[in-house]
Amino acid sequence: MSKLLKCDCGGVFKESTKSEGEFQYDVLVCSKCGEEMFTREQTKKYVRLLKIQEELNKIESMIIKKSGNSRNVTIPSSLAKYGFVEGKKFIWKVKDEQSLVFELVKGR
Ligand SMILES: [Zn+2]
Repeated sequence: MSKLLKCDCGGVFKESTKSEGEFQYDVLVCSKCGEEMFTREQTKKYVRLLKIQEELNKIESMIIKKSGNSRNVTIPSSLAKYGFVEGKKFIWKVKDEQSLVFELVKGR
C-alpha cells in the first residue's frame, strides 16, 4: 500500500492477516481501535474464499480410495472454477495429526 488510510479514530490502517475458521485472509486493521476494512482486492479474495468454503460445506465426508499402492482423494468438480483442475501441481503439508493440507503451487 502506498498511501496510508486513516481511521475515524485517528489511527492508521495497516495490512494484517486474520484467520476465520480454517482460512486466512488479508485485511486492513486500525492500529488504534482495531476497526477492520477491506480494500477492493482484499474483498474479492475474501469473497472467493467464502465461495470455496460454501462449495466444501455441500460435500459430505469422503472416503480415501486405494489405487495400486497409492491412496486417492477426489477433488470435487465444483472446485474447478477456483483453479483446482487437472494438471495443477500441488504439495502436501501436515497441519496436525488428523489433517493434511494440499496447496497448489503458485504460478502453475
Ligand atoms: Zn481506528
